[in-house]
Amino acid sequence: MTEKILIVEDEPTLQETIAYNLKKQGYEVEIVGNGHAALEAARTLNPNLLLLDIMLPGLDGFEITRILRREMNIPIIMLTARDDEIDRVVGLEMGADDYLAKPFSMRELMARVKAQLRRSRLHKKEIEKYAEKNAPQETLNFGELVINTTRHEITLHNKALSLKPKEYELLLFFAEHRGQMLSRSLILERVWGWNYIGDSRTVDVHIRWLRKKIEDDPSKPKRIITVRGGGYRFEG
Ligand code: CA
Repeated sequence: MTEKILIVEDEPTLQETIAYNLKKQGYEVEIVGNGHAALEAARTLNPNLLLLDIMLPGLDGFEITRILRREMNIPIIMLTARDDEIDRVVGLEMGADDYLAKPFSMRELMARVKAQLRRSRLHKKEIEKYAEKNAPQETLNFGELVINTTRHEITLHNKALSLKPKEYELLLFFAEHRGQMLSRSLILERVWGWNYIGDSRTVDVHIRWLRKKIEDDPSKPKRIITVRGGGYRFEG
């Protein structure tokens, strides 16, 4: 996916030069020239990184950083005309991730952008991993057959089964109605939906496939039982 960079800069020449160089690196670029537009654009365009000039019409870069830091976790590189130690400290304290004093080389800027984006991607991955690890796992257990409804994973004898989406939905529907006789038409309606154009043979075919995967002996099914003249019953 192309990463999007929001340039907040009020000098037209610098805007253009930065945008040109970023596009050449394959980034998508959006440009705004004042503080209020910067807030609006950061909120609506969902950029991956913000290049933020400090001296801007409207809100200045410090104020923008202070506001955005409370709302989103986006890497911010501040750009300033003054190579002033105070600005640098204030900028970083406000929550900027990096700081570049004008005039800077485009090469330097590109390197900083790349580094911040890499850091941000790693950070996102870590958060996702953490969230996944700590998410409550909902499972339905039928002896050796376990359905993890959080991860949409099925294991049989501790081995992961590869089920097609409809097979998974069908098994889940059975699992939620264990012990009940389910007619082909009910299964068709609930798993395939009202609008599905097809007949009950669709159900039979999918059950045959499912049995191959979840039955120890598909020719003598013990989990999904055929009910004569009726439909199917899931025994677990
Ligand atoms: Ca400026």
